Amino acid sequence: MLLWSRWRGLNTVQVSSIMDTITNALQAVRQRIKQAAEVAGRQPDSVQLLAVSKTFGADAVRATYAAGQQAFGENYLQEALDKQAQLQDLPLQWHFIGPIQSNKTRPIAQHFDWVHSVEREKIAQRLNEARDVHVPPLNVLVQVNVSGEASKSGVEPDAALALARQIQAMPRLRLRGLMAIPAPTDSETEQRAAFRQLKNLFEQGRAEGLDWDTLSMGMSHDLEAAIAEGATMVRVGTAIFGARNYGEKTA
Ligand SMILES: *Cc1c(COP(=O)(O)O)cnc(C)c1O
Repeated sequence: MLLWSRWRGLNTVQVSSIMDTITNALQAVRQRIKQAAEVAGRQPDSVQLLAVSKTFGADAVRATYAAGQQAFGENYLQEALDKQAQLQDLPLQWHFIGPIQSNKTRPIAQHFDWVHSVEREKIAQRLNEARDVHVPPLNVLVQVNVSGEASKSGVEPDAALALARQIQAMPRLRLRGLMAIPAPTDSETEQRAAFRQLKNLFEQGRAEGLDWDTLSMGMSHDLEAAIAEGATMVRVGTAIFGARNYGEKTA
């Protein structure tokens, strides 16, 4: 089989065991999404799943694609480019979700379909200038710091809509919405409060005329709270691929 011939260095038994593990995990995550949507009185297909494959290899992405997943999120540019080069035969959708250094904007604009982590006008401008005119505009989310911690990434909530309006005016970018990574907490009340803050900002932007449709919030441990508060895209790594080992990260 063509697919299997691409699993470098693995024998058939290893490949089918990775496939089983990932297929089951993906199914369990889809079930959590469906259930959370039902509890919230929402359509399950109103929540998209982004599989966050950082630190996992091209083989894991290939297995996840074979199990029916097309959209993948990556945080580290070089690692992502290496993986993409090994997966060119698949029609994958790539989302850049990590911090953006200004000297990396060109390859990000060229090799991704979405960017979730825009927090400065200068970065947006550079992405806009680098996006090829022959491909669709780059889908962009503004990352917001909803936890209020000085060390956290993201624009401050009171500056987010101004940045969004600047992005909406850039021809090679397509403003899609907001993203946040709230401080981790086990309290569902606190999880929901942070997500609600992002949702409120999103609705305020809409009321002020921003044309956007995407709220990227919720990860493995808090996707239910995010869906309850209106997430349209959840970014899930650990619950699909297992725990990450940063020591083996390739970039
Ligand atoms: C790593 C990462 C995720 C996935 O987190 P999990 O807890 O493994 O599901 C989601 N979003 C961003 C921005 C990340 O960096």
